[in-house]
Amino acid sequence: MSFTLHGIGVSSGIAIGRAHLVSHAQLEVPHLEIPVDRIAQEQARFEAALARVRGELSRLAGDIPDNAPPEFEAFLNVHLMILGDETLAVVPKTLIATQLCNAEWALKQQMDALLAQFDEIDDPYLRSRKTDVVQVVERVLAALLLDTTSAATVATPEDGSILVAHDLSPADVILFKQHKFASFITDVGGTTSHTAIVARSLGIPSIVALHHARRLVREDELLIVDGTHGVIIVNPDETALAEYRLRQEEWDIERQKLRRLKTTRSATLDGTRIELQANIELPDDVAQAKDSGAAGVGLFRTEFLYLNRRDLPTEDEQFEAYRQVAEEMDGMPVTIRTFDLGADKALDSAERVSTNPALGLRAIRLCLAEPLMFFGQLRAILRASAFGKVKILVPMLSGVHELNQTLHMIAEAKRSLVQDNLRFDATVPIGGMIEVPAAALSLGIFTRKLDFLSIGTNDLIQYTLAIDRTDDAVAHLYDPLHPAVLHLVASIIQNAAKAGVPVAVCGEMAGDVTLTRMLLGLGLRQFSMHPANLLSVKQVVLKSDLAEVAQIARRMLRVQDPDRLYALLDKLNAA
Ligand code: PEP
Ligand code: MG
Repeated sequence: MSFTLHGIGVSSGIAIGRAHLVSHAQLEVPHLEIPVDRIAQEQARFEAALARVRGELSRLAGDIPDNAPPEFEAFLNVHLMILGDETLAVVPKTLIATQLCNAEWALKQQMDALLAQFDEIDDPYLRSRKTDVVQVVERVLAALLLDTTSAATVATPEDGSILVAHDLSPADVILFKQHKFASFITDVGGTTSHTAIVARSLGIPSIVALHHARRLVREDELLIVDGTHGVIIVNPDETALAEYRLRQEEWDIERQKLRRLKTTRSATLDGTRIELQANIELPDDVAQAKDSGAAGVGLFRTEFLYLNRRDLPTEDEQFEAYRQVAEEMDGMPVTIRTFDLGADKALDSAERVSTNPALGLRAIRLCLAEPLMFFGQLRAILRASAFGKVKILVPMLSGVHELNQTLHMIAEAKRSLVQDNLRFDATVPIGGMIEVPAAALSLGIFTRKLDFLSIGTNDLIQYTLAIDRTDDAVAHLYDPLHPAVLHLVASIIQNAAKAGVPVAVCGEMAGDVTLTRMLLGLGLRQFSMHPANLLSVKQVVLKSDLAEVAQIARRMLRVQDPDRLYALLDKLNAA
């Protein structure tokens, strides 16, 4: 039977292929039937995973740093206690035998049963301990996943298949980069969630917030994904297939045409140069950035070097990665953002759980809370600055103390490199991301001390409109044209210009062709976006007259009514 599902298209284009269902790396686990003669082996896998986690926790407990908060030890002890409790350590083994299922599934069943019991508890403190149970189970599941003798022999997907998941973390998507999927679709997620951003960077059609796709689509079913309109068609008939194949061809022809603009100078009709740079996640993305004709890397999201691993990258490992990018970009600017971990990009080993992670220990806050980690990264970036035109970009600054502490750390990192006789560019520019309304409203603090600014519109919108960017339930409220957002963006561009500090936009707004002219009209001259969008944006730039777009953009700032705003945007984009 053919049916359609609607979600939010996060990357345009059309894909036609077979569904490949996947589980989230952690709590969404496969349910596999096992033969009777595999029971003992599966139980042994489970016990080995328990032992591994027990070892990890004991090591952590025996090596608590002096400056760790006092509750850290108690926290580890609670986890060790949960791990040793019969309900988690023994019952799953019985379930493996009675239900003839894999260890992951048995553990997940038992966890769900335990969590249901927690929900019955009146005491809110005790009830909140269920987070600990989930964390312990996640650790055991992760240990099981590391076990290559797993019963979960997931078939290797064929090239061109369509990945269907309930949810994917940004770390999952990075892992899937090595496969040649034709498309990604997920049940949850928002337009600017990091999962969507990474999917977009693959340049393949993607849809999020489909709600029931994972449940309704079966493995190997034929799907059409229309990323432009956020629609999937499951089991399409011949007429739909023919129609979408045609649209796919048209889309490919358009993309081919765009390629001709790769070496064209990026300037408006009146000759003003517009800098178009690329956002990258990993060093290997440089190839795509150069292929799009980018004039540099405007945002290197270095936190992706920290994901999908249980240890931290060393200073040398990071230095090699940054040096590779600096060298390959061949004298063009490379803006390396210090790690923006936390929120939806938590470390595998992260112990802290916050009820509101986007407002918690994230980005520069985490950098400053983990000075050793931060120091190592700063040294690595500085060392790479001897091999290209490197700039340092600091995420999520909100106030003067953070800024001063950060500048102090950078100065210290430089001093330590001098002591070690290691080369670096002493004049490496230091910039800050303006993505918290507080920073936008007190820009002078940042323009006085920084060499450049970059507007992170994804977070600026999240924090201005109070919408969690990962939550599809509020995704419809994401609005780059909200008057509050427009005024903040306009005032940052204006005040930075007054202070003589260069400013770019590196959030998803920069790669949205419908907003290019508006941003030009507001005075923006530097854009950084996923390479997949760069040539489409350049095409708009080439056809734009600055005086004309500035006039309409200024009018947009005086309008509050959404219908009139969108009418003005249409007018702006009409020519
Ligand atoms: C942003 O917030 O707009 C941004 C570019 O940073 P990230 O998407 O990585 O949070
Ligand atoms: Mg951000």
